[in-house]
Amino acid sequence: MAKNIQAIRGMNDYLPGETAIWQRIESTLKQVLGSYGYSEIRLPIVEQTPLFKRAIGEVTDVVEKEMYTFEDRNGDSLTLRPEGTAGCVRAGIEHGLLYNQEQRLWYIGPMFRHERPQKGRYRQFHQLGVEVFGLQGPDIDAELIMLTARWWRALGIADHVSLELNSIGSLDARASYRDALVAFLEQHVDKLDEDCKRRMYSNPLRVLDSKNPDVQTLLNDAPKLGDYLDEESREHFAGLCAYLDAAGIGYTVNQRLVRGLDYYNRTVFEWVTTSLGSQGTVCAGGRYDGLVEQLGGRAAPAVGFAMGLERLVLLVQAVNPEFKADSVVDIYLVASGDGTQTAAMLLAEAVRDTFPAGKLMTNYGGGNFKKQFARADKWGARVALVLGENEVANRQVVVKDLRSGEQQTVAQSEVATHLQTLLG
Ligand code: ATP
Ligand code: MG
Repeated sequence: MAKNIQAIRGMNDYLPGETAIWQRIESTLKQVLGSYGYSEIRLPIVEQTPLFKRAIGEVTDVVEKEMYTFEDRNGDSLTLRPEGTAGCVRAGIEHGLLYNQEQRLWYIGPMFRHERPQKGRYRQFHQLGVEVFGLQGPDIDAELIMLTARWWRALGIADHVSLELNSIGSLDARASYRDALVAFLEQHVDKLDEDCKRRMYSNPLRVLDSKNPDVQTLLNDAPKLGDYLDEESREHFAGLCAYLDAAGIGYTVNQRLVRGLDYYNRTVFEWVTTSLGSQGTVCAGGRYDGLVEQLGGRAAPAVGFAMGLERLVLLVQAVNPEFKADSVVDIYLVASGDGTQTAAMLLAEAVRDTFPAGKLMTNYGGGNFKKQFARADKWGARVALVLGENEVANRQVVVKDLRSGEQQTVAQSEVATHLQTLLG
């Protein structure tokens, strides 16, 4: 026998038992997005490699070691998207959506990064991203955070996530901070690990989010980014904090919060949880006013974030088991006897015509009533519809409540209405 071909490591199948909870979570997220007037944008999964190099920055983990890059048959270098912002900005410029316009957009879909797979970290994972263009903030920055806070309430996880906030200022402010930080790090090279030494010149701000506890201790004495902010960024940040205070959204200012990707400025934020082990960042984003111009468009302010759906699903399952997937089947239609299968299939269609929200599964493959009822239980149905030769002859059907065991014979023409009342 041939050897089984297996899925690629870190690229998961999502089986029916899981997709049901994913669907319910996604529909909750989309409903909230709709309530703020945001629109979906759908983008390709593959883009030209230089797009990501230019947008994300050459000296980032993503570009240095995580991208799935390949040559297509024409010899072009293409990359499976590691994130959604670059493609969204590319599309916005290409279709003239950004210049002098407001856009409030969201997208959902798979992203690809070659990382070491572990709980909450995969090679194909899914993000829901939101990007807003044409608004300077900080009011809109605050709205994005309010929107995410509404998500947490809707999913019942609000007590298990907390907001970390920072401003990384303008490009210039960051440049002068960078010099001060590098000068400090140079004095303490002996206390840095290899990763930090490498980043120290290529991308020194990334040293701030080193996970090494010794480095974190050392950083207590390092210059603070907050002391280097330009006046406008300082005001912007104060404005954002005031909006959040007014909205009653708690946050911690974390001066070491920077972002892995180069394109951010001013506002950066993360929603983190302690309920998922070390993969604790559920949602991360910030302002990126320079990116549109950097990718060849006319300058446009922008702010956005991306949420990791695998981590979100894990978190909902861990802390709010009440949030269950909707049932797959409510009604199971069993039939036995001559001519009953045709009658069953037609009755099922008629019920769906009048009661489209009902989830009705028809028994196929025959079997005696006992077998068929066992299948109804297996699918978790609450009600069984039963058709025998008598019922077919009389244009009736037996409606059996599978929880109470009560049953009743009703006219087929009435059954949909009957089910609607029974199932609410
Ligand atoms: P991390 O520090 O965890 O690697 P990141 O800074 O690389 O995160 P972003 O690029 O900001 O992550 O992506 C936004 C969100 O997408 C993350 O907060 C996380 O929830 C999710 N995410 C990122 N990489 C992965 C991955 N490999 N697997 C699952 N989710 C991920
Ligand atoms: Mg990462």
